[in-house]
Amino acid sequence: EAKRRGRSQCQAFSQEMAQRVARHHELEQALETAIDRNQFWLAYQPQYDVATGKVVALEALLRWQHPVWGSVGPDQFIPIAESSGLIVPIGAWVMRRACEEIGQVRAVLGEPELRIAINVSPHQLIHEDFLASLNDTLRECEADPRLIELEITETSLMDSVEDVLPILTQLRERGVSIAIDDFGTGFSSLSYLIRFPVQRLKIDRVFINEIEQADSQATVVSAIIAMAHKLGLEVLAEGVETERQHHWLQRQKCDQAQGFLLGRPMSCADLIDSLQIQRNLRLN
Ligand code: C2E
Ligand code: MG
Ligand code: MG
Ligand code: MG
Repeated sequence: EAKRRGRSQCQAFSQEMAQRVARHHELEQALETAIDRNQFWLAYQPQYDVATGKVVALEALLRWQHPVWGSVGPDQFIPIAESSGLIVPIGAWVMRRACEEIGQVRAVLGEPELRIAINVSPHQLIHEDFLASLNDTLRECEADPRLIELEITETSLMDSVEDVLPILTQLRERGVSIAIDDFGTGFSSLSYLIRFPVQRLKIDRVFINEIEQADSQATVVSAIIAMAHKLGLEVLAEGVETERQHHWLQRQKCDQAQGFLLGRPMSCADLIDSLQIQRNLRLN
């Protein structure tokens, strides 16, 4: 009996595996044509200065609208884009579209200093054409590199430190700033991270989530903020969802905040509308 059950579990398992492989393959094939078929668009989420309440940057978040599957989340397709190498053309597309659209937003809102934050994966950074392709985009969009921030997750940075470090250094020399995304989940130490040319830590939302429930988490977050400041880094809190979290971050002198409380990711046009409404409310 045990043996029979073992065998059927094994069959169920390999069936599930086969399904997963097929799904992966299907997604990968669809990704290959997604750029040409205009299935990608960028959502933008504002990043606010905690002390002044001003929008200081927009983070570009990639969206894939498939004609049959509907909207496919980046957590599902980015890993596939990375393993297949498609992240290189997709990442270049993101860079260009983000630079074009932020230019429009700056012009419409009269905010020439608004930063654009773009997520990048190490596969993209270490590709031999990355810097040349970035330079082309900057030139063609007349974009100021000092208003571009690249976000790289703590874990992906740790996985490829040696290859990525020289690229980060060159980016820094161009004036591009670097933020460590999802900070706190990768168990690296701040003393290690400051060896990198990094300007900002984005504290992962799991920590921000718990500051109201767990005193120990609040202590960890306030210690990170204090230490980062002593090391000359700025700190952004991700995933701010409640007023109480926001007030707490204000008291801790956190530099920037981002989250559903302050603004959800939106299309460029919706974001322009929403920022104009906010501004009018403030003026009245
Ligand atoms: P991320 O860069 O850490 O982006 C933050 C994610 O949290 C986004 O999910 C955003 O929609 C979500 N979020 C923002 N505020 C809140 C909040 O208050 N509560 C909650 N629960 N969630 C919030 P999204 O758009 O699904 O992106 C997931 C991840 O996919 C991103 O995490 C980023 O690592 C990756 N990604 C997105 N676009 C790109 C891209 O163009 N290139 C690369 N390489 N990765 C990307
Ligand atoms: Mg990010
Ligand atoms: Mg993050
Ligand atoms: Mg993330």
